[in-house]
Amino acid sequence: MEVLIVGGGIGGLTLALSLHQANIPVRVYESVPEIKPLGVGINLLPHATREFEALGVLDRLAEEAVENTEMCFYNQHGQEILVEPRGLAAGYKWPQLSIHRGRLQMILLEIAKERLGAERIITGHHCRYADQNRDGATAYFDDPVTGDSLGAVAADVVIAADGIKSTLRRQNFPSEGPPRYSGINMWRGVTRTEKFLSGHSMVLAGSLRTGKFVIYPIVDNVDGSGQTLINWIAEIETDDYLTEDWNREGRIEDFIDSFADWHFDWLDVPDLIHNADAIYEFPMIDREPIKQWTYGRTTLLGDAAHPMLPRGSNGACQAVLDARVLTKCLLDNDSFQEALKVYEAERLPATAEIVRMNRSSGPDIFLTEIDNRTGGEEFDNINDVISPEEIKELADAYKITAGFQKDRLNKRLPLV
Ligand SMILES: Cc1cc2nc3c(=O)[nH]c(=O)nc-3n(C[C@H](O)[C@H](O)[C@H](O)COP(=O)(O)OP(=O)(O)OC[C@H]3O[C@@H](n4cnc5c(N)ncnc54)[C@H](O)[C@@H]3O)c2cc1C
Repeated sequence: MEVLIVGGGIGGLTLALSLHQANIPVRVYESVPEIKPLGVGINLLPHATREFEALGVLDRLAEEAVENTEMCFYNQHGQEILVEPRGLAAGYKWPQLSIHRGRLQMILLEIAKERLGAERIITGHHCRYADQNRDGATAYFDDPVTGDSLGAVAADVVIAADGIKSTLRRQNFPSEGPPRYSGINMWRGVTRTEKFLSGHSMVLAGSLRTGKFVIYPIVDNVDGSGQTLINWIAEIETDDYLTEDWNREGRIEDFIDSFADWHFDWLDVPDLIHNADAIYEFPMIDREPIKQWTYGRTTLLGDAAHPMLPRGSNGACQAVLDARVLTKCLLDNDSFQEALKVYEAERLPATAEIVRMNRSSGPDIFLTEIDNRTGGEEFDNINDVISPEEIKELADAYKITAGFQKDRLNKRLPLV
């Protein structure tokens, strides 16, 4: 048996490590000529760190990550609404980690090269399409720079982990069109500064109406400076957005007005924005769930299968779950086609529900509810606006759908 993975992102590399652990031969074909540490912060929730522990990579990730021990919700006046313990501090058996997305990818790449052999991670191969017959599946590659054909590679199955603009998804759904814009644009940045709150806090502040600001540390003692690298995301409702390019630089003047007076006693938001090392602009986009991922010997994984709005830190985490469930299905089923169908039956409905939930009510739905109830004014006592039970109910509904409600996750059997 040999599995060919298209795409060496977080999902593709996790799948490679998982299949290798299960003694299933695998090769990864990545489009970019050289994988570089791109992006800014990413959050790994306990359902994903559990799988990284099972893969024996959690310690390496934890060395370069910051552990989140609490999630804090504030309004735009900097008033505290809820502080909720997270990860180990909340009683999960696995931590919640914040890490630079590029470092996460590079660590997975380094470990994959060590374990599989560097020759099994092939860069500079852009997949153009895949076909199959009774005996196997074949992927066809071009040079991403020159466009020249690099020929065909045969395997038993081809897994498309090639991101939100997946070539293989388009092959099966040619009229799907571009991703769907949510009406919210994001500016994402990193800033070196002092720790804020506990030093291990993730903060969500504001509401849909005022603009939202998400903040969490991703590197302690960055470059030995004693400072912390803080990841932040400014989200603003607007009809305008530019193209979907993860590396497009953002301009402060396009979004600073919404946060200009957010001077809190625990953090000065305008300062944080003005002192950024780098700012990128990216629209909040997703795709409507499709009805089928698996066609015979090919299937989709990660953002190729279920691109979702980046609310609730589930983009990478769900790709990790896909990788583990797919491994189990390949181990448990005699036929490849059957394995990929069982994988789809488990993962497609589960992730489609998260895609839909992220559109209507992410994990911070109560922030907007509170803004509505207070008319955007400061409150004297949050309990007069919303009860703790009501907040918990709204927050727990998201965790159950996304698969990281504490008791369920702690008690669930291992995926593989
Ligand atoms: C450059 C970049 C920066 C990002 N930055 C952030 C960030 O800062 N924060 C965040 O939350 N999320 C970010 N993401 C998205 C995040 O990585 C994903 O949502 C999540 O990790 C799911 O991973 P994935 O492996 O399914 O997709 P991705 O991480 O998007 O990986 C897809 C991989 O497939 C490769 N690929 C694409 N087309 C082909 C093809 N035809 N043939 C071969 N290879 C192909 C891509 O080069 C990429 O390496 C970024 C993605 C990219 C590609």
